[in-house]
Amino acid sequence: MTNIPEIRLYNSYTRKKDLIKTHEPGKLGLYTCGPTVYHFAHIGNLRSYIMEDALEKFLRYAGYDVKRVSNITDVGHLTSDADEGEDKMVKGAKREHKTVMEIAKFYTDAFASDCEKLNIKKPDVIEPATNLIPEYIHMIQVLLEKGYAYKAGGNIYFDTSKLDRYYVFGEHDEEDLAVGVREGVEEDLNKRNKADFVLWFTQSKFEDQALKWPSPFFDEMGYPGWHIECSCISMKHLGEYCDIHCGGVDNMFPHHTNEIAQSEAYLGHTWCTQWFHVAHLNDESGKMSKSKGEFLTVSLLEKKGYDPLCYRLFCLESHYRKTLVFSFDALDNARREYEKLVQRVAQLDRNDQSDLDQAVIDSLTEKFVRNLSMDLNTANAVSLLYDVLKANTNDRTKLYLIQDFERVLSLGLMDRADKYLAAQAEKEANRYAGIPAEVVQLVEERAAAKKAKDFAKADALRDQIKELGYEVKDTAEGPVIEKA
Ligand code: AMP
Ligand code: ZN
Repeated sequence: MTNIPEIRLYNSYTRKKDLIKTHEPGKLGLYTCGPTVYHFAHIGNLRSYIMEDALEKFLRYAGYDVKRVSNITDVGHLTSDADEGEDKMVKGAKREHKTVMEIAKFYTDAFASDCEKLNIKKPDVIEPATNLIPEYIHMIQVLLEKGYAYKAGGNIYFDTSKLDRYYVFGEHDEEDLAVGVREGVEEDLNKRNKADFVLWFTQSKFEDQALKWPSPFFDEMGYPGWHIECSCISMKHLGEYCDIHCGGVDNMFPHHTNEIAQSEAYLGHTWCTQWFHVAHLNDESGKMSKSKGEFLTVSLLEKKGYDPLCYRLFCLESHYRKTLVFSFDALDNARREYEKLVQRVAQLDRNDQSDLDQAVIDSLTEKFVRNLSMDLNTANAVSLLYDVLKANTNDRTKLYLIQDFERVLSLGLMDRADKYLAAQAEKEANRYAGIPAEVVQLVEERAAAKKAKDFAKADALRDQIKELGYEVKDTAEGPVIEKA
């Protein structure tokens, strides 16, 4: 095991910047709540995944043997997080006149493609929620046996009054707790306590639930609640201890609160005590949401001519715990900066054979690790790229450091620099396309004369070019020839 530095991350569970600890030394189980695949991911969702990707990559960079697990929610997530309303997947399928499985496949693929464009690494395990029905049934059975769950009105609920502490992420006031009431939906009268949540449904006001499974609990077919999937998927792939669990801040309550309640009641010991929550991306009119109709996607950014990696830069330049407001003006700034970075990287000499400058490497790497180890300060880590570019050292060392930092930042700088150089070369090759060779030769002779400061010769050559019907214009990128 390499020497892993001390890493502090803000932990929503303790509300402090805690030192990362893992159940097994050097190994780190990371769980990230995946998308509900009833529509495209909006760029707000993707902010969470970009920051979680930076976290995962930094943990690996620091030396942890990371296993990242993620779910795909293809059943059980209702239109209100308070177990009310219609299954989002069924709603999505109706909207598109397709089956639930068809839209799950389509939007799972679309999500993977968005992630690829944003250089978000694929998790080691991606598990669709519908794959683990026997595991949910088993967990619910144990919760019933232990007295943490009860049957009422055709559903199975978790009894939150059985826990010493249910609201682990902070105190909520009474109003806040009645999520159903707050969101304007009817309260479920089957619940013993307002905060109880559904583990298994057979009864819902919406009769056309598309996916249902038999269970030992009821004669009718049923389907799992949303929260149970993440507990079971995490336990299946990471065992009884999850080292860090991630999601957007909206996942904190009720989703993560309920995950902890059922997991610890089932296991009889603590399950996950490090919780990483990413603040929301809002648009200028407020919260970004898939149910709002028009929303911003990666494809839309591409249609408008933005490289998706400009959006990654935009996200990395803010701290993950600060709400970020999206505007095209802000994205334009990120794009200008991104293009400048790419050009500066492109200018570095790839053939430089100088010795690596170990003192510069050590000093800048130490700063990079220090900033990311203090609650994942990606903004400072990005600004270290500029320190590399202006460091008093050779190009080989700069290229080495940029590629090293890119293991975490993943801004695609080397790839885009290659593309920039290829585009420049193509432009150069086409510079004189369609111009007679005689004229091109005179233009080149004129450029040489100008370089030698023989302006009389340069002027005479310009006249000769004109006589052949062409005009030469000097630009920052060299001479341009046009028909006179
Ligand atoms: P969903 O597809 O709705 O299950 O959400 C996928 C992920 O995106 C979850 O981790 C959410 O917490 C997160 N999320 C939802 N809205 C936003 C937002 N506006 N900004 C950042 N993350 C979000
Ligand atoms: Zn989850």
